[in-house]
Amino acid sequence: MPAAPLEITARDPGTRARAGLLRTAHGTVRTPAFVPLATKAVVKGLEAREVEQLGYDMVLGNTFHLFLEPGHELIRGFGGLHDFMGWDRPIVTDSGGFQVFSMGHGTVADEVKGRSPYGGERDGKVLAIEEEGVTFRNPRDGSTVFMGPETSMAVQAALGSDIALVFDECTPFHVERDYTARSAERTHRWLDRCLAWHAERGPTDQIVYGIVQGGVYEDLRVEAAQAVVARGTGGIAIGGSLGADKDQMHEVVGWTTAALGGRADHRPRHLLGIGEVDDLIRGVELGIDTFDCVTPTRLGRHGVVLTPDPEKRFRIDLSAARFKESKEPIEDGCPCPACAAGLSCGYLRYLAKNRELTGVRLLSLHNLVYVARLMRDLREAIGDGTLGEVAARLRSGSAPSTAAVVASPV
Ligand SMILES: [Zn+2]
Repeated sequence: MPAAPLEITARDPGTRARAGLLRTAHGTVRTPAFVPLATKAVVKGLEAREVEQLGYDMVLGNTFHLFLEPGHELIRGFGGLHDFMGWDRPIVTDSGGFQVFSMGHGTVADEVKGRSPYGGERDGKVLAIEEEGVTFRNPRDGSTVFMGPETSMAVQAALGSDIALVFDECTPFHVERDYTARSAERTHRWLDRCLAWHAERGPTDQIVYGIVQGGVYEDLRVEAAQAVVARGTGGIAIGGSLGADKDQMHEVVGWTTAALGGRADHRPRHLLGIGEVDDLIRGVELGIDTFDCVTPTRLGRHGVVLTPDPEKRFRIDLSAARFKESKEPIEDGCPCPACAAGLSCGYLRYLAKNRELTGVRLLSLHNLVYVARLMRDLREAIGDGTLGEVAARLRSGSAPSTAAVVASPV
C-alpha cells in the first residue's frame, strides 16, 4: 500500500480546506474531487470516455451490487473492474456495508444521507447480524448470502479497485446511542479483520481506507476517528448517520475532520454519500478531499437540473409547468452538451417527461458538468488562496466558471 497517497499541494489559511494529488495505481486524482457513482460498473447512461471528458479522475463501484451481479469472479476473469468497464483511471469501491445494513435498518429517508436503502420495492432482507458478518436474503433471487469483512475485501481484491473501503456497520439516525457505540466497536474489530486479510492476500497496490462511524455523537466520532487513525490505514472515510439536517451533518463532519488532524493529516479523507452543491462547498472547507453521491445523476434521471440558485437549493425541477414553453437553456454559458447546443428547457422538459433516453443522458451530463465545474473552482481557489471569496460567491448564486473541465493527465 502506498505510504502517503495524498500529496497536499495547498491549504486554505481560513479553513481546513486543502488541495492535493491523490496518487493511485491507475493515476492521480486532483483533490478536492467529486467521484461519480459507477454503482453497477457504469455511470448510468454514460460511457466511460464521456465521464473522463467531463473532467472526472475517479469513479466509485459498489461491492454489494457487483458481488451479487455479475459476480466478482466473473469480473476478475475480465482482468478486473477497470478492464471490464473500460475505465483505466482510478476506481474506489465501497465495502458493501451500507447496502447490507440498509436492508436491515429499513427506511432512512429522513436522513441527510439521501442514499435510498436497497430494501423497499425489492425483496432483500437481513437474516442475521453476527460477529462473523451479515447473512441476508439476496434481493435478486431470494438465496441466502453471507458477507463479512473478509468477503468484502476478497470481492474488492478481485475487482482490483485502486481504493478499497473496509466493511463496516452503517448505523442509521434512529438507533440509540448504546447501539451506535456497540456497533462502532464491532466496526473496529471488523477493521482489524479487513486489514489482516488485506495484508496477507490483498493487492499490494490497493489503498485501504478505514471508515469512521459513531453516529451523531461527538465523543463516539472522535473515538472512532482515533481508532481508525491508530490502525494506520491508507485513507479515512466518514460514514454512517450524519444527522437529521444539514447543520447537524456539517457539525458531525467538522468533529471528525478535527479529530483527523495531527499525524493523520496527510491521509486522504472521503465523505460517503454527500454531494449537494452547498454540502460540497462546506465539506471542502471542513477538510474533505473526496465525495461520492448519487445526487447529480439521480436528479438528472428525474428531470431535475443543477443551477446557481441558492434560493432553490441549487436545482430546478423541469417538470414544473412554467418550463413548458421556456425557450431558455438551463444555464447560459454552461459547456455541457445540452446547454452548448442551446437546447431549451421546454424541449428538455418534454424529453424528461417522456423518459427519453437522450433526455436522461443530457440532464445527467449537465449535472455532472456542473459539479465538475464547482469542484474545479474550489480546487483552484485553494491553490490561489481565494477560497473565502470563491466559496462566498458560489453560495450566493454565482455560476461556477464556464470553461470545460479537463481530466488530469494520467
Ligand atoms: Zn448545461
